[in-house]
Amino acid sequence: MAVIVENKLNELIGEVKKIFSNHLEKNSYRKTPERYSILEEIYRKNDHFDAEGLYIHMKNQNYRVSRATVYNTLELLVNCDLVTKHQFGKNLAQYEKSYGFRQHDHLICVDCGEVLEFCDPRVQQIKNMMGDILSFEITHHSLNLYGKCMKIACDKRKASL
Ligand SMILES: [Zn+2]
Ligand SMILES: [Zn+2]
Repeated sequence: MAVIVENKLNELIGEVKKIFSNHLEKNSYRKTPERYSILEEIYRKNDHFDAEGLYIHMKNQNYRVSRATVYNTLELLVNCDLVTKHQFGKNLAQYEKSYGFRQHDHLICVDCGEVLEFCDPRVQQIKNMMGDILSFEITHHSLNLYGKCMKIACDKRKASL
């Protein structure tokens, strides 16, 4: 996940809050401060996280939010494309911010669950080419590569040596 400088980040957070507001209004959902805090915290994070991890993060930041609010706000954010939901193998669903960030794909360690990102323009070329050849309007894609990371800290592997 690309790290961006603070004033750029604040600008981006303002933009995503506007998009979220429109989505909430359009669907007659309540615009509660908790929902905006969750959105902001997600955009200040630079990693992939699961719903429970986000709830714990909010608690650690002293926000008074319920688990249910965190879970349903996440779903709302996925529905308006501000957050992407990933299913990496059999692990819990993981999430990451998506607005204003470059398209990328993932490498997942099957031992420790580490998620790495890569960006290769050839993926876009394949999408364009296959869309043309098969007359298919490709709207999104998911490309996950699984394997074993070479980190010394990869605990399960160390244990098996
Ligand atoms: Zn690993
Ligand atoms: Zn990612």
